[in-house]
Amino acid sequence: MSLPGFPNADAASNNMTFTDPEFGEVVIRKSAWSTNPKFSVSTSGKLTISGPKHTTVFLAKRWLNASRKQIREKLPLKDPSTQRARDAQKKILAKKAKEYLPYRLEFWAKKYGYNYSGLRLSHANTRWGSRSSSGTISLNIGLMKVPEPLRDYVILHELAHINHMDHSAAFWAEVEAHDPSYKRHRKLLKAFSPGV
Ligand SMILES: [Zn+2]
Repeated sequence: MSLPGFPNADAASNNMTFTDPEFGEVVIRKSAWSTNPKFSVSTSGKLTISGPKHTTVFLAKRWLNASRKQIREKLPLKDPSTQRARDAQKKILAKKAKEYLPYRLEFWAKKYGYNYSGLRLSHANTRWGSRSSSGTISLNIGLMKVPEPLRDYVILHELAHINHMDHSAAFWAEVEAHDPSYKRHRKLLKAFSPGV
């Protein structure tokens, strides 16, 4: 059972977390060998407090408050406001994508006679787009960050998957017929990341 306001216990790793007004989510790592609390930064940029087995959220907060200044000065922490800025950017991109991508997809589909069953706007970190076997096309909202010719290349690529489920020579020939510069567009797209 989880109660609001209580720390989340991560059963698998025995880690607890709490939210600090300055540092955001703080992870508590307990270990049998640990004696004095140690402060570090996790790979995801979160402040981590390693302490002995009996460490509680109450104790961890007390240690944190006592060392706040040193932590601020010495540890390479990510600013929680960076996360907030990212969330805000995501919202703006999602709104732009909603106002643009359905119409652009429809434009190219009509122009080249493709039928697709629907469009899903995705937030994936690694893919610009995909086409499901049911005919739904997914386009990443991150496409709103890339120049229009590259965005169009992704749309034409996914539309060509309606006729070719693979990346065969016939598939690429169809992409090339609609986007003669597709090779260059594909290469340029690598400079961008789909994640927001
Ligand atoms: Zn593909």
